[in-house]
Amino acid sequence: MGLGRFGGGADVAKFACNAGGKVTITDLASAEQLSDSVKQLKEFSDIEYHLGSHNAADFEQADIIIANPAVPGDSEFLKLARRSNRFITSQINIFFELCPAPITGITGANGKSTTAALAAHLLRSRAGESGTQYEKVWLSGNIGNEPLLVAIDQIGPDDLIMLELSSFQIEQLAQIKKAPKVALLTNLSPNHLDRYGTFANYCAAKENIFKFQELDKDSPAVSIFNAEDQVGCEWFEKYRGDAGRICIKFSTNDVSEEIRRQFSLPGRANLSNLAAAVAIARYFGVDDETIKNCLPEFKPLPHRLERVAEINGVRWYNDSNATTPQSAIAALEAFEQPVIIIAGGYDKNLPFDELGEKIAQNAKAAILIGATAKKIALSIRNTNMSLRAKRSNLKPRNTQYAIRNTEVKIVSSLSEAVDLVARLAVGGDVVLLSPGCASYDMFDNFQHRGREFIRLVQEING
Ligand code: ADP
Repeated sequence: MGLGRFGGGADVAKFACNAGGKVTITDLASAEQLSDSVKQLKEFSDIEYHLGSHNAADFEQADIIIANPAVPGDSEFLKLARRSNRFITSQINIFFELCPAPITGITGANGKSTTAALAAHLLRSRAGESGTQYEKVWLSGNIGNEPLLVAIDQIGPDDLIMLELSSFQIEQLAQIKKAPKVALLTNLSPNHLDRYGTFANYCAAKENIFKFQELDKDSPAVSIFNAEDQVGCEWFEKYRGDAGRICIKFSTNDVSEEIRRQFSLPGRANLSNLAAAVAIARYFGVDDETIKNCLPEFKPLPHRLERVAEINGVRWYNDSNATTPQSAIAALEAFEQPVIIIAGGYDKNLPFDELGEKIAQNAKAAILIGATAKKIALSIRNTNMSLRAKRSNLKPRNTQYAIRNTEVKIVSSLSEAVDLVARLAVGGDVVLLSPGCASYDMFDNFQHRGREFIRLVQEING
């Protein structure tokens, strides 16, 4: 149920076919929208496709229903399956049931993929060596398009599994009371409120990653929290006393100058991701010298503060994966140069006050697109107005509020945004596509949005 476009559904379908199942794939999206995923399955000619809508009969009759994490738990079709006593599971639940190796799970509002990829990179530098206790490192989960169930037969008990876990996957795991042996929370700020309603509900879904860890005095669970995150600190205090659990706190202060110098990703948020990855690497026995030496070879993930081009002294960055206001704020904080930000997109009901304030303080212009453009514009204007009011009450020499009036423009497409920015930007500026919103109102996904941005920037570059 839910083939999707990120590889998870195709992984499940291949696994089910290889296990001898008679497989039906159903998805609300059309065959055309799912063509890339369907292509990946062309050698499995027995699969039946029910695309564009769901059929009640599939949910009444299937022996096993494997639901995509994007399907809400209260879906009418899942309710029907439950009433018909069908067995419902998920890709991640099957993996946790079958995986012979210890699993490290990384979750949080922002920085999950970067942290998981960095941790896997640091651990791989010592895999199979004496002094470390593991053979091979696997990286998968919500990071997308990495095999999970189809790799299960190749995973040995001495391997390490590094998984990025979304709140939706953690919710599915909670249904079978499972969680990773080692769990790390990068940070928490409001996200997915269209599904969760409140920040408290969202936090509760994430907390299951610690709540369902198996406490064992002989082989303790490991829970890792961010000392610079409010929820992280609260949960560290809450869980630190548990017998059978080791609690660890990480902070950017744990990363030495020497290590920082070898790290090329910009901004404080990325430094926090590095600190998290270093905490995991140290726990598994990787020493600081090795960490320092292997960092320069880390290949940044695409669509995350990815430098696309420098044209006439203007540097263009693709941060299309910034799908929360908090991640766009982190991106704005990464630069000291004047920034022109392109933001806006699908509306997840998240508040934009903080992002508006940050844009008003840090950006020289904001070009806004998509469903949330008006909301973001309003929050920038509110800050501009209150700063102007404060400034007029201050002595002229006080510069604290002597900031620019951020130029705000709403346009109807990414291509219009890029054209406008190309006219506004001058040498020394940074142009940042960091939408602070998901992409579904205008694009298939954040990768599509990022690729489109890169193409438009390359056009300017001739
Ligand atoms: P996730 O997997 O949680 O979506 P990513 O590592 O893919 O996180 O980064 C997504 C975006 O979030 C990046 O484009 C970057 O702008 C921002 N970001 C990355 N790390 C952090 C962090 N620790 N705190 C806030 N924002 C971050």
